[in-house]
Amino acid sequence: MRIKHTFLLNFLFIVFTAPFIYSQYDTIPKIDSLSAQENSLGKLSDDNIEQYLSKYVQFASVSGHEKEAGEWLKNVCKENGLHITQMGEKDGEYNFTASIYPLLSNLPNIVFLNHIDVVPAGDLSKWEYPPYSGKITDTEIWGRGSWDNKGNAIMQLFSIVEILNRYKGTQLPFNVSFLAVSCEETQCRGGAEYVIANYLDELNPAVVLGEGPPAITGALQTDVDKPIFPISVAHKRALWLKLSLTINTSAHGSVTPLRYANKEMVQALDNLLSKKQKVVYSDLNIKMLKDMGKLEKGLTGFAMRHPKLFRMFITPQLRKQPELFSIFSNTITLTSLESNNDVVNVIPSEATALLDCRLLPGASKEEFIEDIKKRLKNEDIEISVIYSMPKMQSSDDNSIYFKNLKKAIEKTYPDIDVVTISLPNTSDAGVFRAKGILTYTTVPIVLDMSYLDNIHSENERIPRGIMVKGKETYTNFIEECINGDDDSGKKKKFLIFNTKKD
Ligand SMILES: [Zn+2]
Repeated sequence: MRIKHTFLLNFLFIVFTAPFIYSQYDTIPKIDSLSAQENSLGKLSDDNIEQYLSKYVQFASVSGHEKEAGEWLKNVCKENGLHITQMGEKDGEYNFTASIYPLLSNLPNIVFLNHIDVVPAGDLSKWEYPPYSGKITDTEIWGRGSWDNKGNAIMQLFSIVEILNRYKGTQLPFNVSFLAVSCEETQCRGGAEYVIANYLDELNPAVVLGEGPPAITGALQTDVDKPIFPISVAHKRALWLKLSLTINTSAHGSVTPLRYANKEMVQALDNLLSKKQKVVYSDLNIKMLKDMGKLEKGLTGFAMRHPKLFRMFITPQLRKQPELFSIFSNTITLTSLESNNDVVNVIPSEATALLDCRLLPGASKEEFIEDIKKRLKNEDIEISVIYSMPKMQSSDDNSIYFKNLKKAIEKTYPDIDVVTISLPNTSDAGVFRAKGILTYTTVPIVLDMSYLDNIHSENERIPRGIMVKGKETYTNFIEECINGDDDSGKKKKFLIFNTKKD
């Protein structure tokens, strides 16, 4: 039996780790951006959704340079009747909401989160069409951001405006907001974090939908051509640790002391890292295995549907695939080993090591550090925390919002199954989950695997004809929130907040 999710997880890694890889290209290509004023492509409709994306892509809004693109986008929102709240006005801190009702109404808010910034274009000579051309060919829309995250933002926006027009004159019991933020790619302080720190009460989010994986094929081992729709409800949190060991010895290397810092640090790290990390079966990852198991055929499917029973077969398979293993374990990666010495006959008195640890949603930081201490088997090593993401609960996949999102996806794509997943890393969704806000991430379009290689790389593009379905799914989601069935299957108006009934 072989469980093959490598592709899915590779994709997730590309999306969430590439900005750092790309930091080598920090110069921003000098390509003239459009003026925010030359704006109108006309009333938003299925016929011009791709033109709007093309135009948005034409702004070179590399992280820290979001304002011009943001102003254009905000004007589109304004022209279409949405209510704007500015939440920071300068580059690197340019954020706004565009809502059906003013935020002042203080209604519970369905928030569609997206980011204005993009990663740098990389090697310009490798692009078939210039990265900020927004070139529309017969089959594709080209350019940096066409997928990440401008394509998604345009689908969200078109959906919200459609709902606004459909329910004009009706008082819905909730607000719907488009929230565009800065510098998601660099996780600077001026983006989502700034919004949370200064405008959370005003925003009043009941649920946040953010960027995540599209429908993918190749995740099912026994049915490789069948796509699945992952919705992420959780992510791991980073815990960065520094280990330091000081042992004062005679500084000359001609006589080897019994104890010295480098040797003991290496031995302690060997104690720590040579031991395999435990596989942790949590409610969430068991559910993920079971969900996938329902879609797999034969023995593979049977084993995955009964992960506890088949643990001894499943665990070794998980270990073979680090990407998959990462969502079944707390991980420790040694990323630096230092003794500030490059003289060969001098014994340094201090050795330090940096560990990048990633904890599963339910894991306790204190217990984890305690366990590391024990495994190092060296009382003299001091452990300090450099950075620790706040603990957060995963978002409930039984909530009415999750159900509505699932229904909406299934309505648009009747043949595709939805699975709940957890991600090994995070995006802006993390700052909302840390506040206990239900946050789900997915992008409701079907994308051929080949396109995923170009995200954060050269030749980013998406196929034509898929955006309308993505927009429709978001619209279906909001409609479900307004008019969906209750648990008994009865149509109920304004089910979620239930302030008005038929
Ligand atoms: Zn993104």
